[in-house]
Amino acid sequence: MEVNAAYIELSGDRKKLICSLCPHNCHIPEGNSGFCQVRYNQNGRTQLPFYGQISALSVDPIEKKPLYHWRPGSSILSAGFLGCTMDCPFCQNWHISRNVEAITKTMMPEDLIKAARESGHAQIAYTYSEPLVHFEYLLAAMKEARKANIANILITNGNINKRPAHELLPFCDAVNVDLKAFTKENYHKVLHGSLDTVKSFIEYSFHQKIHLEITSLIIADFNDSKKETQDMIDFIGDLSVDIPWHISAYHPSYKWKDRPYKEADLIKTAKRARESLNYVYVGNTPGFNNDTECPCCNKILIERKDYETKIRGLTSKLTQNEKKTFCGYCGSPVPVAL
Ligand code: SF4
Repeated sequence: MEVNAAYIELSGDRKKLICSLCPHNCHIPEGNSGFCQVRYNQNGRTQLPFYGQISALSVDPIEKKPLYHWRPGSSILSAGFLGCTMDCPFCQNWHISRNVEAITKTMMPEDLIKAARESGHAQIAYTYSEPLVHFEYLLAAMKEARKANIANILITNGNINKRPAHELLPFCDAVNVDLKAFTKENYHKVLHGSLDTVKSFIEYSFHQKIHLEITSLIIADFNDSKKETQDMIDFIGDLSVDIPWHISAYHPSYKWKDRPYKEADLIKTAKRARESLNYVYVGNTPGFNNDTECPCCNKILIERKDYETKIRGLTSKLTQNEKKTFCGYCGSPVPVAL
């Protein structure tokens, strides 16, 4: 449909469109799309044929995003899209991220906000495949959501250039960013993304005081070396030891169907991470204690079993016009948005 596309312009010789939304900075010839498969050059004009095309719409527990420190126990209207700025060979959602022929239904930004309002959900997650390739849609939906007092939650690979990231993030209330590896080579050659860009997205989100959680899928013989996982831990810890880090078990998928899943390595990484970071959670694997404990008195503050959540000991109060959360036992501040 005809929508004003952002961060894309005609080249000097008028033969290509140059898109600067993500680090691919695609030069798109006439009749083609960019790497993401959703931004097209048709007769020298940008077409966004997937604007408002929603590949999945459901209500999820917030813990499924995963967000463990944002309104624990709440549910969220979650919308998925098509296309992606990366091509991870282990993608768990490849049927929508790399397949633009997947079935969708049309929902304009105002329809999405209406659906959230009518279903009684005060928060929307932009999720499943990579939302950021639909920058124009996100901006419109997030602005509408703000007016309707609905929180915007972005679940993303963070692989977007600085200018659009800085334009969009002020409308986000919480983000979960995938940190998929910690070498430039892994990001570039295997995932078709940019480590520096993702790091800068995470840093900017943190410094803008947007609620931030980070997720890493730990994959045997790819990103699970002691050095690479320690680099991830150090990067997060240097920002704040209070940023929740979700490490997830990899299950063979897409192009890497034969990779082994090594639970012992995942557990080892989790234990090491817990020596440096206050909140480390393990997903996609049963039997791991994912309760939130107070780092000062070690009492359980939030108890979790799968997606069932019980808040045990948290209090909140207004301090300088800001709602803050505290341990109900020892009174220490706890980074949880209730
Ligand atoms: S958003 Fe798509 S078209 Fe634009 S630079 Fe990235 S991959 Fe290329």
